[in-house]
Amino acid sequence: MKIVIEDLKIKFGKQILVDEKLSNYSWFNLGGPADVLFKPDSIKDIISFLEKIKPQKFTILGAGSNTLIRDGGIKGITIKLSSAFSYIRLESNNIIEVGAATSDKKVADFAMENSLTGLEFLACIPGSIGGAIRMNTGCYGDDISQILHSIEVIDAKGKLKVILAEDINFSYRCSDFEENLLVTSVKLIGKHSIKQKIAEKQKTLVEKKKNKQTKKKKKKKKKIKKQKKKNSQPSQIKTCGSTFKNPKNKNAWELIKESNCDNLRVGDAKISEKHCNFFVNNGNATSKDLEELINKVKKTVFQKTKINLELEIKIIGINK
Ligand SMILES: Cc1cc2nc3c(=O)[nH]c(=O)nc-3n(C[C@H](O)[C@H](O)[C@H](O)COP(=O)(O)OP(=O)(O)OC[C@H]3O[C@@H](n4cnc5c(N)ncnc54)[C@H](O)[C@@H]3O)c2cc1C
Repeated sequence: MKIVIEDLKIKFGKQILVDEKLSNYSWFNLGGPADVLFKPDSIKDIISFLEKIKPQKFTILGAGSNTLIRDGGIKGITIKLSSAFSYIRLESNNIIEVGAATSDKKVADFAMENSLTGLEFLACIPGSIGGAIRMNTGCYGDDISQILHSIEVIDAKGKLKVILAEDINFSYRCSDFEENLLVTSVKLIGKHSIKQKIAEKQKTLVEKKKNKQTKKKKKKKKKIKKQKKKNSQPSQIKTCGSTFKNPKNKNAWELIKESNCDNLRVGDAKISEKHCNFFVNNGNATSKDLEELINKVKKTVFQKTKINLELEIKIIGINK
């Protein structure tokens, strides 16, 4: 393996990182090292890397806003597209081509600049477009499957192909294309509209997201005012957003609250005071603390409500 790594370093230079600390790659700010982290600058490099290594499988990281990486890190190969895959261009009248490492917010802004509607919700999501496809990311009734034309992917053998949206099964925060497919670019469809209207819609959605929890607590008016000022969904904290998916006709945060789990903590892993489906690394938590807290909440909610909460965040890697 050592010789192979040295070979890789010679061939791919700074694109190969060995024993790279992954805590910098997750919004929880947690996670052990990656054996080998490959940060490719081009499709050509991805193909030649995969042809050389021939991995059975690899792990893909996007912006890390939905991923808890365990304390033991990730064995084998991890791939994270470099900023060379952060680009956007107008392909035709209403189709936008986006590199998979592009932030969702940039895509929303680009669509607005080009007077294309339907992509405003992306302004509320802190991840990359590659992650958005895997997660079928969305909010307020919109999700990426509704605006998707096609994705370009590379498989573990280094084969490049295009998959049309109609050939992917999307459901709530889920898509069913193979795990070992690395999305490299995406084509999204917008509808022509008036730029001013798009800007207003985007602003409304972003504000709504910030004040989401505030609105749910109408009774506590004083508290609302305070929270509106501070924004009600946590920001600037170490979290990956909603930990659990909302079960049918229920909100995960309400079930957590009803089950009196909102004050639970394990070490420095706690539940956000502003949104109790947001789990937080309060500074010195380990991934093990976070995972224990998640399991504790899941178990307690099941005991109290008989509802089995399903994870929205991805937990990857090995324990220490
Ligand atoms: C404060 C906050 C608020 C949030 N609000 C929302 C919300 O309203 N709605 C919502 O849906 N989500 C929300 N999220 C969760 C998260 O932002 C989304 O799931 C986002 O789409 C994840 O993108 P990412 O690039 O960070 O993916 P990552 O966390 O890096 O990865 C998530 C999954 O995508 C896969 N993946 C990433 N890139 C690629 C690629 N190029 N090819 C193939 N697979 C890939 C990974 O392997 C992994 O399985 C929120 C998160 C935070 C922190």
